[in-house]
Amino acid sequence: MREHQLTIYNSLTRRKELFKPINDAMVGMYVCGPTVYGDGHLGHARPAITFDIVFRYLQHLGYKVRYVRNITDVGHLEHDADEGEDKIAKKARLEQLEPMEVVQYYLNRYHHAMEALNVLPPSIEPHASGHIIEQIKYIEKILESGYAYVSEGSVYFDVPKFNADFGYGKLSGRNIDELLATTRELDGQTEKRNPTDFALWKKAAPEHIMHWPSPWSEGFPGWHLECSTMSEKYLGEQFDIHGGGMDLKFPHHECEIAQSMAHNHAPAVKYWMHNNMITINGKKMGKSLGNFITLDEFFTGNHPLLEQAYSPMTIRFFILQAHYRGTVDFSNEALKSAETALGRLLDGYRRLQEIKPGEKGTINVDELTARAYEAMDDDLNTPILIGVLFDAVRIINQIKDGHASADADEIEALKKFFNTFMIELLGILPKESAETNDAPYKGAVDLLLQIRAEAKANKDWATSDLIRDRLAALGFNVKDTKTGVEWSL
Ligand code: ZN
Repeated sequence: MREHQLTIYNSLTRRKELFKPINDAMVGMYVCGPTVYGDGHLGHARPAITFDIVFRYLQHLGYKVRYVRNITDVGHLEHDADEGEDKIAKKARLEQLEPMEVVQYYLNRYHHAMEALNVLPPSIEPHASGHIIEQIKYIEKILESGYAYVSEGSVYFDVPKFNADFGYGKLSGRNIDELLATTRELDGQTEKRNPTDFALWKKAAPEHIMHWPSPWSEGFPGWHLECSTMSEKYLGEQFDIHGGGMDLKFPHHECEIAQSMAHNHAPAVKYWMHNNMITINGKKMGKSLGNFITLDEFFTGNHPLLEQAYSPMTIRFFILQAHYRGTVDFSNEALKSAETALGRLLDGYRRLQEIKPGEKGTINVDELTARAYEAMDDDLNTPILIGVLFDAVRIINQIKDGHASADADEIEALKKFFNTFMIELLGILPKESAETNDAPYKGAVDLLLQIRAEAKANKDWATSDLIRDRLAALGFNVKDTKTGVEWSL
């Protein structure tokens, strides 16, 4: 194992801490998986890519990692975890589908998008619906410890009681008195002792189609419970990393902390990690705002807000250009410049493969490697790492232009540098650049442009415009210059 000093920012202690696993034999990492079924939308890409980088780097450092990312297929409600109808159940009822058909449909789309983004699959992907028995047992233990109560067939977590013994709100920095003052009394909440209490088990209303038998009622588990239960089942009572989007800190992760403390009387998680959110043109993403863009729509360009298609690697690169704790704002301008930058990086990688070794070497790959590790060790600072990769591209260009030279060993070291940091750790694949330069592909585009030139010469503007527009929709940039036509992808 390489000597390293990986530090990660712990959202609970609010400082960077040296990463030291609880058990060297296996690092346990749990990340809250997709919680809103929206065809694999852009919001899913950021946590997936963030924790993909953590997963890749820990493995690179020599750790065996068990990465668990759950599938929330029951109990997650759109507005309030205790109220309303389950989203999956609602869609299933409206479209007369078996609920598991709805789950599978979205899951397939999610997996497809993740594969396109080169996100590695986790070690285990447990479904909440497949762990009902474990969740019931978990509730029974919390009831025994006195931090929950049964009310009209439902089970609620007693937040004020827990707060008095352990303190509630440490992760989100919310104070219980403040919460009490701002929590609205909603319909159907009269069965709770305190407005801040949350459901561990909910008795199902007659129209609710997803329900299971339990000692308390025919019902379903509360959303927060699945993560406490499944992380303990697969990673043990204490594990290393728990991740998710910042929006999950409250109430979801705060409730998870309370549940596991009430269950085990010890904290379950050593490092809490949260990625920041994505905005589109400066606005939060939301269905009502009309800026809810799926990953497939990004890949095809098929959305009114998108001026063109953006490849999965462009999306991945764009997200990694920001540190995971910083915000990312999607706009056509920002994505286009990411596309250009990625093109430069991949061109550099391609040129590197063509370099012939010189007599003597003048470049210093060790220095680049040291800086790259330093960036990764500093709370996975991918933007700094990308900067180091561009420094390497500059060196490649200098060699190509004859301003520097590299011997065979140095060229090998530089190739290893790119393979490690660009391909293995950042997960940026050079494929797209190769495809662009693929002769048959290039030939086909040239042929289309030749037909367009002939159409123009014949004043057949309709055909000429059709070819240009269709190529543009596919992501080709066609430019008419004085000397002819230039194109790029
Ligand atoms: Zn969760």
